[in-house]
Amino acid sequence: MNPALAAALSTEQREVYNAIRAYADHRNVAVYLVGGAVRDWLMGHPAGDLDFTVEVDAIDFARGLMEAHGGQVTAHERFRTATWLWVGHHTDFTTSRSETYPRPAMLPVVTPAPIERDLYRRDFSINAMALRLRNDVLVDLHDGQGDLSRKEIRALHARSFTDDPTRILRAARYAARFGFSVESATREWIGHGLAYLKDLSGERVKYDLELIFGIPQPERALILLREWDVFRAFGISVPEAEALRARFDAIRLHLRMWHTATINLTRAELIHAIGWGALIYNLGQLSARRWLDLIPHTAEVREALVSLGVLSTLSATLFDGKPSRQSDILRPFSGLALLITWLFDHSASKRAAAFSEWHAWRGMQPVTTGDDLKARGARPGPIYGKLLASLRNAWLDGEVTSADEERALLERLLSQ
Ligand code: ATP
Ligand code: MG
Repeated sequence: MNPALAAALSTEQREVYNAIRAYADHRNVAVYLVGGAVRDWLMGHPAGDLDFTVEVDAIDFARGLMEAHGGQVTAHERFRTATWLWVGHHTDFTTSRSETYPRPAMLPVVTPAPIERDLYRRDFSINAMALRLRNDVLVDLHDGQGDLSRKEIRALHARSFTDDPTRILRAARYAARFGFSVESATREWIGHGLAYLKDLSGERVKYDLELIFGIPQPERALILLREWDVFRAFGISVPEAEALRARFDAIRLHLRMWHTATINLTRAELIHAIGWGALIYNLGQLSARRWLDLIPHTAEVREALVSLGVLSTLSATLFDGKPSRQSDILRPFSGLALLITWLFDHSASKRAAAFSEWHAWRGMQPVTTGDDLKARGARPGPIYGKLLASLRNAWLDGEVTSADEERALLERLLSQ
């Protein structure tokens, strides 16, 4: 293996690579490492997931690997691609193919084709390089190496963004992630693709915007998209550049502090949900609604994003009063909605209340229970709830600070 490539791969990735290479030699099949891993290696970055293209049927190839080495294969019939899970790594195989787009923004029709055609269907020159495993030769037909050294994102042909407008979102993501500029003809072609953005399914828009939320500085990509009039093309507004910067700064500054264990989302799902929050918070009903109509979310995320409409417009003066009153106002909202409010609201008192409600107030219970009230001879009914709430509120407001004080308060309440 090429030593620079070896340095970009983890031990397990080298194991995967060597297994694939040996199997390809054994079957006498042309296999290429393609896309991100080649780009990352040439940039001196550690490689992410490995993608391979084979000049035979990829599903067949992956299943053969599984028979030889074990692991699991997931096949996607429509595009003849497969994922091989082995030694803890997901490795993707695609059948080398050409693509034709029956209509702009629709998914392509694919036909098996040699590697040269396969590279031509790709998004940018820096992602269109391939390493032939058999002889370690780099196939770079579109001067991806030149663009890496010029630090440019360059599409391969004028129709690229009309065929697949998600590439507009991808261009902004790579430019932001690597600090590259967008080559001038490419910039112009992006302009031609804008009109087709609205033909994309919400699913696809979601996928690529969430990839943006996952990079270290998403605001850079979002600001580019804003400059390119991408959001206008969707008929949706987003916060100004300055606000986007402030919001993603807040995420970077605070997110580690937040105890996420009690929000029922994976880390990645949380990052995505907060990214949507950064776009939607305080945006105004019309644009917020447009985002929510366009993008499919899980029930939990959707509910949180919808509730931001209320949370962001609650008057800050509501959060100057007693904690028990503030907690009453915030109790209906989910932890995720409170987290987003804490991150992005302008009012320091509202932010503090959102934080306290989620971290402290919500979990506070009086020492006294319903059983205690029964033992004291109070007749069961709505009065139980009221008594327990009064005791809880007294704790929140600092009026009782010990079990004895709570019992004393209960005596007073019962005697009334
Ligand atoms: P990273 O995952 O680091 O963003 P990657 O290159 O691995 O980079 P993937 O999304 O895994 O990105 O895609 C693998 C390759 O498939 C890309 O490098 C690119 O060549 C090609 N590709 C992916 N999406 C598109 C697209 N929408 N249009 C054209 N080519 C694409
Ligand atoms: Mg990849």
